[in-house]
Amino acid sequence: MAMVMAMRPRTLLRIFLVVTALLLPSSLVGVATATTTGPADPAEAAPTTPSARLGAAASPGAAHRGLTGPALLGAAGPVVWHVPITAPGQVRDLERAGFDVARSTDDNALVIGDLGVAGRLRALGYRPTGFGDLYREPATPRRSAAAGTYYGGYHTVAAHEQHLDDVAREHPDLATVHDIGDSWLRTRGWGGHDIKAVCLTRKEQGDCARTPDAAKPRFTLVAQVHAREISTGELAWRWIDHLVGGYGTDTEVTDLLDSTEVWVVPIANPDGVDVVVSGGNHPRMQRKNLDSDNGTCPASNVGIDLNRNSSYKWGGAGGEPCAESYQGPEPRSEPETVALENLFTSIYPRQRGTDDSDPAPAGARGVMLTLHSFGDYIILPWGWTDLTAPNDAQLRALGERMAAHNGYTVGTNAETVGYETPGTTDDFTYGVLGVASATFEIGSAWGECGGFFPRYSCVDSEFWPENRGAFMVAAQAAAAPYALDRSHPAAGTRSAGGSGDDPAVTRAAG
Ligand SMILES: [Zn+2]
Repeated sequence: MAMVMAMRPRTLLRIFLVVTALLLPSSLVGVATATTTGPADPAEAAPTTPSARLGAAASPGAAHRGLTGPALLGAAGPVVWHVPITAPGQVRDLERAGFDVARSTDDNALVIGDLGVAGRLRALGYRPTGFGDLYREPATPRRSAAAGTYYGGYHTVAAHEQHLDDVAREHPDLATVHDIGDSWLRTRGWGGHDIKAVCLTRKEQGDCARTPDAAKPRFTLVAQVHAREISTGELAWRWIDHLVGGYGTDTEVTDLLDSTEVWVVPIANPDGVDVVVSGGNHPRMQRKNLDSDNGTCPASNVGIDLNRNSSYKWGGAGGEPCAESYQGPEPRSEPETVALENLFTSIYPRQRGTDDSDPAPAGARGVMLTLHSFGDYIILPWGWTDLTAPNDAQLRALGERMAAHNGYTVGTNAETVGYETPGTTDDFTYGVLGVASATFEIGSAWGECGGFFPRYSCVDSEFWPENRGAFMVAAQAAAAPYALDRSHPAAGTRSAGGSGDDPAVTRAAG
């Protein structure tokens, strides 16, 4: 009893509600937990604060007024269900069954879906214990969104395209825009987009050409490979503006652009982003591209996971076409993957040997960061195996220098998300080209700045300030990324931690 009395009232309330949820019929689970009040304890693995989810989950005030029934959730759309994981392989089973697993640990999965999804989970014997809302932005933005924006200020694909054109026009001495390929819809003549990259440097003869042996070292930042990871495209936008706006006045920026080419692909999956944007103040959960040639999937599950489709060590990420981590029918089957791989092979020489254990030489150049969300991680190669990369010590040294700015956890898959991810962008750039590469998982799971759809204000209050320095460290390292730590550990060390013993389990969040 003393222990119970020591608990905060909201903790007791949560326990009551979880127990209630377990006892109630599935159709009432979400309604029961929707009445929770007060902030959640992150240690309980709640995906958001209840106050945030109440603020945006339904029509304003609906939950507070005690409205019940499926209509409440019908208005809110999909939510995040907590699903306890009680046996090995369950996460894989959920993905293969078509569930959208946003994030998972050894004992818990966050599954996106509405009441019908919760009912399907229960029918399969799972016990979803409550939900958090996907949306952190207030249902009614405090200011009217500017043209070319959605969900409080996030930029549309058209706005990103216009931004690159504006930067090139206003800074012809610094910026060169390249069309690096077509989105899947564009290849079919069904709309879609050219995929754009911008190269930023103080231009001299031959700079920003797509030739591997450039005079200057190259840093590349790639964002929104996964469409719904919406903070990442904004970070690419801020990074571009920081560089072109600071040249000539900011010494660090000026030195960087005098010495280095900075390449940015702000929207690597523009078709998918169009779908996300189409939800407006309730962005849609599109992760993959829009390739509908494989299987007969519901519209919301169409596409190929572009971060499982890269050609280096492709395969083993999942062959279920409707799964959110579907790898595609063959390596680099998707035009978006081809665009990225062709960009990389046109601007970086092949610097690493072909054996798994060949390190990139100490004199190799080039850095590539690919931005995803969420988790507050800097994930280092390899993705395809739980063996550490042959340049593990040097990659870790670079990772720690970046983490000094954003505070993220640095490690391999096994040390961060806990499972293997064959076919990732960074495995290609490191594995084929020897470019020092990493995946950032921007933001946490909790609070207004957590999840896939953080409040727009979080970009400038949190994500950009904490990552600006990390990007700068990466860019400044492009001349000699492996010089940070010259020790060469034995390649092929099995990395510690995690549950990487099930290669078929793949994360969907990253
Ligand atoms: Zn991702």
